[in-house]
Amino acid sequence: MDYENFFRQELEALRHEGRYRVFADLERHAGEFPRATHYRERGRAEVTVWCSNDYLGMGQNSLVIDAMHLALDRCGAGAGGTRNISGTNHYHVLLENELADLHGKESALVFTSGYVSNWATLCTLAAKLPGCVVLSDAKNHASMIEGIRHSRADRMIFAHNDPEDLNRKLAEIDPARPKLVAFESVYSMDGDIAPIAEICDVADAHGAMTYLDEVHAVGLYGPHGGGISERDEVAHRLTVIEGTLAKAYGVMGGYIAASTALCDFIRSFASGFIFTTALPPSVAAGALASIRHLKASEAERDRQKERVATVRRRLDEIGVPHLMNESHIVPVMVGDAVLCKQISDRLLTQYGIYVQPINYPTVPRGTERLRVTPSPLHSDWDVDRLINALKAIWSEIGLERAA
Ligand code: PLP
Repeated sequence: MDYENFFRQELEALRHEGRYRVFADLERHAGEFPRATHYRERGRAEVTVWCSNDYLGMGQNSLVIDAMHLALDRCGAGAGGTRNISGTNHYHVLLENELADLHGKESALVFTSGYVSNWATLCTLAAKLPGCVVLSDAKNHASMIEGIRHSRADRMIFAHNDPEDLNRKLAEIDPARPKLVAFESVYSMDGDIAPIAEICDVADAHGAMTYLDEVHAVGLYGPHGGGISERDEVAHRLTVIEGTLAKAYGVMGGYIAASTALCDFIRSFASGFIFTTALPPSVAAGALASIRHLKASEAERDRQKERVATVRRRLDEIGVPHLMNESHIVPVMVGDAVLCKQISDRLLTQYGIYVQPINYPTVPRGTERLRVTPSPLHSDWDVDRLINALKAIWSEIGLERAA
């Protein structure tokens, strides 16, 4: 086989569909969120980032940066091993205690990313519980789907955010079998929010465990940043709460919070936890500082809500269509992969505004979009520039306006 030719052909097909991914080569400016330098084929330019998952700019927060500097100076660069073989640093222990407390759980376990925490935990639970059936929301993230698939357990997909469909599916399963309901709180592409209490009601009625991915909610919702489960006062009803340290907390890593026995079980059996080097101590220290700050401070969350409302109102004024939801995610709908890329390119090159186009398979074909994430650090001037640029581009390309 001509391997190289195969790779080239597959890539050409992606390009043809307008969904070949081009990475923006950025250098973020410490302490100056949302500014970054964009390195281009010829030269470079300062840009304003409007699509970061560093939702509150905590990755550039001086408290977080100082904590990381301190840990780097005290402990050096890497953890030096897996958690079991010399890699457990005191910062990991402090971080896990803080996370357990954040979610009101007995225990927590930190992984190298949110992806790995989902993959490893769901895979281990579903594979080890004898005869387990996993009920997975139709819009679950790839990391959950892959973990469930790898477990080889039976799985059923329930309609997105639909407790009635979940109830029907659970009723079909032998009551004696272990069951695990896996879902998210804030769905990252549409920004819609799960009816957690109703899903827990259904799960409880059938004796099922519940696993909630709060990756796009931790730090952002609830009086202490404990996510939608904290906001809705239902954290105690969930068997497992999973989150990331990489989005609102601005650093890197993932975790689960659950009972002592469940966390110990995952710690002891999950390959994705056991056989990999622990996070660098400085990363754990930065995440710890970020969580502690957002537990106590409402200022970032309040300002973000105001910024989100302002961007939505301004988009309505110029008739640029966006998907309504009650979260911080503002999906500007384009509905065509090629056009979406074209708008994103123009924003970047003509206006110094960076919003990555989101295409299939991340979202269904025909729903291609620009996923805008307003942060507390986007100024009025930034909002004006974004709105004026979108208004001009919508006219230049002759795109349809919202009524
Ligand atoms: N879960 C969801 C719903 C996500 O959207 C993502 C990433 O975007 C992850 C998990 C993975 O988290 P991380 O980026 O920490 O690996």
